[in-house]
Amino acid sequence: MTINKTRTISADVAVIGAGAAGICAAIAAAKSGARTVLIDAGPMPGGELLTGMAVDGALNARGEWILGGVGRELFEECARLGGYIGPLNDWRLIWYVCFDPEVMKLAIARLLGRYGVTLLLHSFLYDAEVKDGTVKAAKVLNKSGHMHIRAPFFVDASGDGDLAVLAGAAFDLGGKDGEFQPLSMMFRMSGVDTPSLLAYVQSFPENFALGESDAIRGGRTDAQIAQELLKQGQPTVFIKGDGKVLSDAIAQGQMYPTALIMIQPTSSARREVCLNTTRVANVNALDTQQLSSVLGTLAEQIETCTNFMKNYIPGFEHAFFSGMAPRIGIRETRRIQGEEALSEQDVLRARKNENGIGKGSHHVDIHQDGAGQIRIPVDGGGSYDIPWRSLLPKGVSNVVLAGRCVSADRAAHGSVRVMGPCMAMGQAAGTAAALLATQGNGGDLHQLDVQYLRDCLRKDGAILDGTY
Ligand SMILES: Cc1cc2nc3c(=O)[nH]c(=O)nc-3n(C[C@H](O)[C@H](O)[C@H](O)COP(=O)(O)OP(=O)(O)OC[C@H]3O[C@@H](n4cnc5c(N)ncnc54)[C@H](O)[C@@H]3O)c2cc1C
Repeated sequence: MTINKTRTISADVAVIGAGAAGICAAIAAAKSGARTVLIDAGPMPGGELLTGMAVDGALNARGEWILGGVGRELFEECARLGGYIGPLNDWRLIWYVCFDPEVMKLAIARLLGRYGVTLLLHSFLYDAEVKDGTVKAAKVLNKSGHMHIRAPFFVDASGDGDLAVLAGAAFDLGGKDGEFQPLSMMFRMSGVDTPSLLAYVQSFPENFALGESDAIRGGRTDAQIAQELLKQGQPTVFIKGDGKVLSDAIAQGQMYPTALIMIQPTSSARREVCLNTTRVANVNALDTQQLSSVLGTLAEQIETCTNFMKNYIPGFEHAFFSGMAPRIGIRETRRIQGEEALSEQDVLRARKNENGIGKGSHHVDIHQDGAGQIRIPVDGGGSYDIPWRSLLPKGVSNVVLAGRCVSADRAAHGSVRVMGPCMAMGQAAGTAAALLATQGNGGDLHQLDVQYLRDCLRKDGAILDGTY
């Protein structure tokens, strides 16, 4: 074993975490000319992008794209490789982008390779060398031993804000009474008969979450919305916890309490959908023992839900379990305290910001214990701007946040945590770090000319303007 060896790697930009945010950050940094290293604790880049869920917050609830740039390039690569379904309306609250998570693995690997990102898998960030609020080196452990990653600028896309915390940043954790949004295991079922499922929605619309916002409902009745779903022709339906079919099953112990069974397509060829429904609330996912201990319960819920779908939901009679996410899904842990915190009112009032570096549009979406869930739509089905300063941890000069650990109050976090805004933040963070790094003089991210950054992002396809 070589575990006691220490090696040093140098880069212009080091990105910690290869989820939606980190991948976009690394690609943006590399495209901007920075020598970029992307580090992840896991065996495969992708994070939650590989779990089967669709990307929310890439379009607003009016169906207009609010995500451009690197995120869209990733979708185009999925399309080139034959795994892109595209934007769908859930006829409830949002539009989302569906794709095959197996093809997404290929797309990510192809793009990282194409742009020359140095990938370091199986590498866990455990410490940092920090001097006066500046990170000198990120310390990771892997089979080669200890590696010190030296770089003038770092992107913290770890989801949990690990690097920012090691650098001394303060943070908020979960809800004010110690509660946490549930952990969930996404899973997939193949062999789904979509026409039968959509015919069932037509016959019993009361079982489904439909037209929850005015922007989506547009004055339609449930029956008319069911008709729109039929026209769309995709298995994108949400069975609600307080509808008859699911609430009866919960009351009879045939299902566990849950707010929704969210069904979204992943592959037309395999007639496959992803189901988002399992849940164990109020676990602090930063406690690895606690996190690991819920796996058995989530697996049991998958078995229960698979049986429920086969026994009660037309279109699923001959469907079968075909895969589950490579890891337990974590909705919330730390929110790093930044120079500015995105607020609930910023989100709900669709506020624009002259220093915005990307957009979000997802409703305030806070899953709770059992069948509880808060869902509050953004005014008019529009979008809000994510302020540049919400990516800057207070008191740390050379780390920029991207993704789930961004600075936000808990309600705003319930919106900005979804993958569309994570990708936009990633592109902004990677571009900003590269802009300073390639000038070669070190520097403080807090002093960066944000209007210059915005011009660069626009040139690279990011959507920052318009009335969206
Ligand atoms: C069950 C569930 C359902 C969801 N549904 C949707 C949905 O339908 N649509 C949607 O858009 N969003 C959804 N979300 C939210 C969204 O998936 C996440 O908030 C988002 O993907 C976070 O992206 P990220 O890049 O910040 O983090 P992640 O995707 O979590 O990536 C972080 C990466 O950092 C790595 N990492 C962490 N710590 C370290 C360390 N110390 N050292 C090295 N590497 C580290 C991890 O291995 C991981 O790969 C859901 C979330 C969950 C959990």
